[in-house]
Amino acid sequence: MDEVYLEKIKQKALEEHIPIIMDDTLQIIADILKTNKPKKMLEIGTAVGYSAICFSKYLDKEATIDTIERDEERVKEAITNISKLGLEHKIHIYSGDAVDVLPTLTEKYDAIFIDAAKGKYPFFLKESERLLNKNGIIFADNILYKGYVMSDYNKHKQRTAVRNLREYIKEVTENPNYETKIIEVGDGLAITRKTL
Ligand code: SAH
Ligand code: MG
Repeated sequence: MDEVYLEKIKQKALEEHIPIIMDDTLQIIADILKTNKPKKMLEIGTAVGYSAICFSKYLDKEATIDTIERDEERVKEAITNISKLGLEHKIHIYSGDAVDVLPTLTEKYDAIFIDAAKGKYPFFLKESERLLNKNGIIFADNILYKGYVMSDYNKHKQRTAVRNLREYIKEVTENPNYETKIIEVGDGLAITRKTL
């Protein structure tokens, strides 16, 4: 892995205010990926490919990542970044809205990273459940959304997102087939294991 180029991708994304995965969040996911060695991973929200590229370092040697992004400019940049690092055979991008793309997917995944529109998290969860292998893991980034999700302040303009994030948390914690941890790292990370 060309770490210098990867660092350039990261710095450019930060300068352009693209919300890439935070270092602490990445660290936690990386540790889990290193132990679980998923063979197939799905990401919802590619942006410029930074997180997918990082994850690819920790997966099984033969592993592949499918990732979905709706912003065409970002898709282009992600394709460039992925090919500069020689990862075209590992990371495949679906260009389109995940709301349309997810229902077309049929193959199962060992790990899923949800990192896109917060108002769609319950929908992303429903699709992820359908696409997740037994013992699979779902990571949901930004689950605490700057603390809004845990506060009782409900009047700000992000309340639809907050309501949907809360619904996501409720569903993963109440489902007896799942084991969920909510971690106060970065913008909040939910880690859900399918035990059945
Ligand atoms: N995972 C990336 C950051 C993703 S930022 C990283 O850590 O490097 C969130 C991205 O999700 C944005 O680029 C946005 O365009 C995309 N997005 C938001 N809603 C989406 C949707 N419904 N379908 C596909 N992409 C979506
Ligand atoms: Mg995020």
